[in-house]
Amino acid sequence: MSEVRTRIAPSPTGEDLHIGNLYTALINWAFARQNQGKFVVRIEDTDRERFVGGAEDTILNSLNAFGLSPDESTRVGGLYAPYRQSERLEIYKKYADELLEKGVAYKCYCSKEKLEKIREEESITHVRKKHRDFCDPNATGEKFVIRLLVPENENVTFIDLIRGKITINTKELDDQVLLKSDGYPTYHLGVVVDDYLMKISHVIRAEEWISSTPKHILLYKAFGWELPIFVHLPILRNSDKSKLSKRRNPVWVSWYLQEGYLPEAVINFLALMGWSHPEEKEIFSVEEFIKILDLKKISPVGPAFDIVKLEWMNGEYIRKMSDEELTKRLQDYLVDHPAKDKIAPIVPLVKERIKKLSDFIPLTDFLFEKPEYDMDVFKRLKIKDLRLMIEKAIEIMGQMKSPWNSEDFQKTFMDLAKELNATNLDMFQLIRVAVSGQLVTPPLFESIQILGEEETKNRLHEALEFIKNPPAEPKY
Ligand code: GLU
Repeated sequence: MSEVRTRIAPSPTGEDLHIGNLYTALINWAFARQNQGKFVVRIEDTDRERFVGGAEDTILNSLNAFGLSPDESTRVGGLYAPYRQSERLEIYKKYADELLEKGVAYKCYCSKEKLEKIREEESITHVRKKHRDFCDPNATGEKFVIRLLVPENENVTFIDLIRGKITINTKELDDQVLLKSDGYPTYHLGVVVDDYLMKISHVIRAEEWISSTPKHILLYKAFGWELPIFVHLPILRNSDKSKLSKRRNPVWVSWYLQEGYLPEAVINFLALMGWSHPEEKEIFSVEEFIKILDLKKISPVGPAFDIVKLEWMNGEYIRKMSDEELTKRLQDYLVDHPAKDKIAPIVPLVKERIKKLSDFIPLTDFLFEKPEYDMDVFKRLKIKDLRLMIEKAIEIMGQMKSPWNSEDFQKTFMDLAKELNATNLDMFQLIRVAVSGQLVTPPLFESIQILGEEETKNRLHEALEFIKNPPAEPKY
């Protein structure tokens, strides 16, 4: 078999790489790896109206952040220098001219106004004409497009590796524009010419392109080129089966990184979209995926994108990581956090409690800055005499021998709880809220050790002051 070459062909028309495109990229990249092939990235920037400046860099950075960088570039030495269609206009023009010469395409000088008028008429008569039926063959002018002469009534058949044989009749297809009046190709011409010239062996893309494939096949045939293998991946869906959309789920991949999802967890999660591990494993490395991926076993039914599962998986990855590695990841993540160099001792305390890197901040903020107390949080403890209990705790802390040790600390406060007729839980929760302002923190004694004995005592005093003079309830 000739070399396996795959590609993704994102258009720089959105804020960032869509999570669905990341999925497509993963399958293309992994399949190329599996077969010692090449994975190519081609920026399809031919739609100048929807072009978003800067989107290309964001897309490439996102791919890189998930470890899916292209294997090949147009420039030597550049880290990312993908193929870019806007730099290849001469090539598309040459191939469009070839189609004109062969008589399978024609020049069309129709104005926008004329086209609008025809559409209007069609909406009344409900008869859809093929473009050639009203296009004036003798027209001349400066501006023209090149259209494909689509056969009237022909079944176009192709084999999709996942879905089997697909047949679409050309009756439904109008004479597709191939080259626009601005000299840019449309998606259809660009994609076919480039997949051919770039020797793409497997066109692996999302399901939404199935309906375009017959147009592409007509072009392959017109040029006399061999077809690549087509693989249309299922589209990721919301839990209600609707297409994954911004309203239900975050769709831009940078969001996942900002939230502190780990790239390897996201990759593992995406690998399981529409495909399952032969041993039913949920957690596996990308190297393992490369070995066992079988394109034919991807299910065509749109898999549900369950973010709760992703969160669980991310937590599993965090727990499996060494403390050193997690510290490093957190430090990279917390670039602007003033205390990012002080987190190493805290990491083992929170490892079991965080699912995403972002969970670290609310859980540990109190270690770096004074808590903001909230009377409601104190009230949730349901302690009869809060004030007395804190006063007693302060008194006892003053008498404890420094440095405190965990056993003495436990025993001292359990005795105090007994004396005050309170439960141990109430006692320790009260100290927790006094030092942190929160009901949930990393383990209490370890947190106190990080805070220091003096700061702990200070906070108990501050908590007492707060309870004595709580801020006035807002009046409505
Ligand atoms: N430019 C298309 C996109 O935006 C590429 C589709 C394909 O892979 O053929 O996704």
